Amino acid sequence: MSNSQTQSRRPLVAGNWKLHKTLGEARELVAALIAELADGALDAAGPEVVVAPVFTALSSVRDALRGSPITHAAQDLHWEATGAFTGEVSAPLLLDLDCAYVIVGHSERRQFFGDSDEAVRKKAAAALQAGLPPIICVGESLEQRQAGDTETHVLGQLRAALEGLDPEALARVVIAYEPIWAIGTGHSASPEDAQAVHAAIRAAVAADHGQALASGMRLLYGGSVKPDNAATLMAQPDIDGALVGGASLDANSFAAIVRAAAIRE
Ligand code: PEP
Repeated sequence: MSNSQTQSRRPLVAGNWKLHKTLGEARELVAALIAELADGALDAAGPEVVVAPVFTALSSVRDALRGSPITHAAQDLHWEATGAFTGEVSAPLLLDLDCAYVIVGHSERRQFFGDSDEAVRKKAAAALQAGLPPIICVGESLEQRQAGDTETHVLGQLRAALEGLDPEALARVVIAYEPIWAIGTGHSASPEDAQAVHAAIRAAVAADHGQALASGMRLLYGGSVKPDNAATLMAQPDIDGALVGGASLDANSFAAIVRAAAIRE
């Protein structure tokens, strides 16, 4: 086991519900998840668990989670706090809904909605400035991996997103490495390949911002995490949890992934 595994990094398992679940379905999923995890997996020493529903369900999910250690997150935000930005939601509004995190730079935002590295940087900075920790997503396409450009691309996205942040803000950032070719495909990165990229991310953060900050930063893996591969992925020294899409839509499978994170500790 490498030096990079520290007990101080509490595992984090976040469920990205994407564009799924009506209010009723969201409340049902939360109730089922709480019931599934009533076995002690959520005690104070266990992994941190977060769910990210659509904006319209945030308030209902917050209410349904009341009294549970599971928290809720948003899937995106705009960098301006207020103004003439039709259709957008800002960090202060997400804090008003008690969000614990906001996902920034998910590959679907980059791919389908044109979120550039610069937009991701502005979103992450705005979230942090408001006091909302971002889960910043980075990851390469299949073509980039096949061309041997994985590290160059991922570290480029990472450095672009973290540029200009002060150490205090950086300490609240979570990074999610999500190879695009693994998202929603059922083909996860191998634990060894995922670990190699996580180690490169941590080394880059150490080189740019110091070892202490890098050692404390939580790095999640995302891309077809399922109950049957979660434990091996999260057993890797630099993988501190998971960002889960499809498997987070089912209480039973998401709970199994949370339990796998509990074992990692
Ligand atoms: C995601 O959307 O962040 C994700 C990792 O999806 P999936 O788990 O379905 O691959």
